[in-house]
Amino acid sequence: MQGRIFDIQKFCVNDGPGIRTTVFLKGCPLRCVWCHNPESQKREKQLLFYADKCTGCGRCKNADFESGDFFCYNSARELCGRDVTVDEVMREVMKDVDFYRNSNGGMTLSGGEPLAQPEFALELLKSAKENGLHTAIETCGFASADTLERIAEYVDLFLFDIKETDPERHREYTGVDLAPILDNLRLINRLGKPTVLRCPIIPSYNDREEHYLGIVSLAESLESVIGVDIEPYHAFGGGKYKALGLDEPDIKMPTDEEIETIISFIQSKTEKKVSKA
Ligand code: SF4
Ligand code: SF4
Repeated sequence: MQGRIFDIQKFCVNDGPGIRTTVFLKGCPLRCVWCHNPESQKREKQLLFYADKCTGCGRCKNADFESGDFFCYNSARELCGRDVTVDEVMREVMKDVDFYRNSNGGMTLSGGEPLAQPEFALELLKSAKENGLHTAIETCGFASADTLERIAEYVDLFLFDIKETDPERHREYTGVDLAPILDNLRLINRLGKPTVLRCPIIPSYNDREEHYLGIVSLAESLESVIGVDIEPYHAFGGGKYKALGLDEPDIKMPTDEEIETIISFIQSKTEKKVSKA
C-alpha cells in the first residue's frame, strides 16, 4: 500500500496530546483562500522555486528533480510530494516510540486532507494501533460518510476543522459545501469519538460574532466535542505561494489581544475548553 505525502514532522506538540509525529498527506478537495500549505492542495508532485535562495550556480540545468535523484544544496528548488509505503512511514514514526510512551503522545495524520487518500490513511492508522500508538487525524471533514466510518475505528482523537459556519460563506471561502462536513461531524459524534473543533480565525473573512456563536452551538450540541482550538491566521505560507508561482493571499494576521478577546467570548458561552492552538 503506497500513498503520497509531503512531509513527516517529528516532536509535534500541537497536533494532539503529548509528543507526536505528524504525517502530512498530499492532496485536498478544498481551496481555502487562506491556506497556509498551498503546496499540499494538489495531489500531483510539484516543484517549488525559491528565487531568493538561488545562487545561479547552474548545477540543476539538466537535473531531473522529479526522480528525487537531484537536490539543490541551497534548497532553492524543492520537490513537494513523495510516494511511500505504509511500512516506510511506520518505520519512521516508530523511531520515536519512547517519546510517545513518556508523554502520552502518538501519531497524527494531517495534510492536505488525509481522507483524500482513504485507503492509505486507513492502513496507516491500523498499523499505528497495532503498534499500540495513540492516533489523531486532522481533517476538514469533507469525505464520504463510509470513509469516515471505516477510519473512525482506528482514530482516538479527531481534530475537526470548522472554517466557517455560514453555508454561503463556507462555499465562497473553501470551494465546497458545509452541509456534508457537518453531517460527518454529527456522524463522529454518534460514533462517540472524542473531537476537538479546530477553528482558524481569518481577519476580514470569519472574524464575526455570528460565526463564533455558530462554533459555540456546535460545541454545545455535540457530546463528543471535548474542546475548541482557536487557530490565529498566520502568514507562514507566503513564501510557498511565491515558490509555486501563485499570488499570496492579502490577509493581515490577528493580534494576540484580538485572539484573546475571541477566546474569552467563546469560552463565556460554553463549558467546553477553549484554547489557542
Ligand atoms: S542548483 Fe539550486 S542554487 Fe543552483 S541554479 Fe539550481 S536552483 Fe539555483
Ligand atoms: S483544508 Fe487545509 S490544506 Fe485544504 S485548502 Fe483548506 S487550509 Fe489548505
